[in-house]
Amino acid sequence: MPTLRGRQFFQNPGPTNIPDRVLRAMDRASIDFMGAEFRSLARECAAGLKRIFRTRQSLMVYASTGHGAWESALVNLFSPGDKVLVLETGYFSINWARAAESLGLKPETLAGDWRAGVDPAAVEARLKEDRAHEIKGVLLVHNETSTGVANRCAEIRQAIDRAKHPALYLVDVISSLACIDFRHDEWQVDVAVAGSQKGLMLPVGMSFTAISKKALKACETARLPRVYWDWRRYLTDGEQTSWPGTAPVHLFFGLKEALAMLEEEGLDQVFARHHRLAGAVRASVRAWRRNDGPEIMATDPRVESDSTTSVLLPDGHDAERVRQIALERFNVSLGGGLDRLKGHVFRIGHMGDLNEPMILGALGVVELSLGVAGVPHGKGGVEAAIEHLAQ
Ligand code: PLP
Repeated sequence: MPTLRGRQFFQNPGPTNIPDRVLRAMDRASIDFMGAEFRSLARECAAGLKRIFRTRQSLMVYASTGHGAWESALVNLFSPGDKVLVLETGYFSINWARAAESLGLKPETLAGDWRAGVDPAAVEARLKEDRAHEIKGVLLVHNETSTGVANRCAEIRQAIDRAKHPALYLVDVISSLACIDFRHDEWQVDVAVAGSQKGLMLPVGMSFTAISKKALKACETARLPRVYWDWRRYLTDGEQTSWPGTAPVHLFFGLKEALAMLEEEGLDQVFARHHRLAGAVRASVRAWRRNDGPEIMATDPRVESDSTTSVLLPDGHDAERVRQIALERFNVSLGGGLDRLKGHVFRIGHMGDLNEPMILGALGVVELSLGVAGVPHGKGGVEAAIEHLAQ
């Protein structure tokens, strides 16, 4: 492998680039996680996070990955044998369903088109059929990071309401929070599950659940076993006052800085920046599509994700090879295809701490790598991105 110089352009859909400000904020000595200084830091972070989730209800912070927050949502809300409706969107929805099954729940998968995202009318129809209200929860991955499809979370809420169904609404916002509009309270989400390493620009290791009052009530009667994840142990009057074990103090130092950065920019501006940069990526892929080249996996413009673009290669071409060339020859790291998409797609992450030169640099290398790999494509992807950004 050649020796690579310069900065690696890191375009994975998580973890994402950690801003220097966040790294510097964590570069300090530890403090007592039971002391007043830490308690004040944790309170400040919880308040900031609630503004990002757009909630005034409860919030739990864990030392864990997103998988832990998935589990926390399930064990706190349900009892053995409960049925949950999993809206199939791709790899992450399937894995959340698998976790539910392993915990003793009965997940029912509502089959979906991985490229078009969840159809709210299909959710409404299925829930209307469930007259006995056997379905206790509806599970949605807001932004399916494996396909680059951003599901219509608010419209799915309306579908649940039209069906007059009391199921809890659980939403994975792991790759949408602080990238794409999400409104926990307004959309009446019961539990939103997030992680630190995407739009929040932190290292891996912290996860979050935003919890509605309805979910807190369900937590009281849920019968799945839980220890580490048990909200009741850590929430006092709906506010988190303790942690399962040692609190991840340094991640809190980083979180405080990341929240300050997001608030300085303004959440709506953060979404607008993601939309602008995602538009540049899409403009490139559309240019490459000419000459029977690669295409955007999302087929419905309403669900094109502003945090991740999955690029589907023409048959007979290996996406892993393109990814390997980009990484090993040109020092640009892209995401790979997951599960059944392996080899068929590569993913360009465009979330978190990112600007125009970073995205243009990465797109230039993707175009270069397509050429080196011998994948047919239209030329001028980077020019199309420049045009988009110039508008
Ligand atoms: N859900 C989504 C949408 C994700 O993108 C990921 C990770 O990329 C996960 C869940 C799993 O999160 P973690 O890897 O932090 O456990």
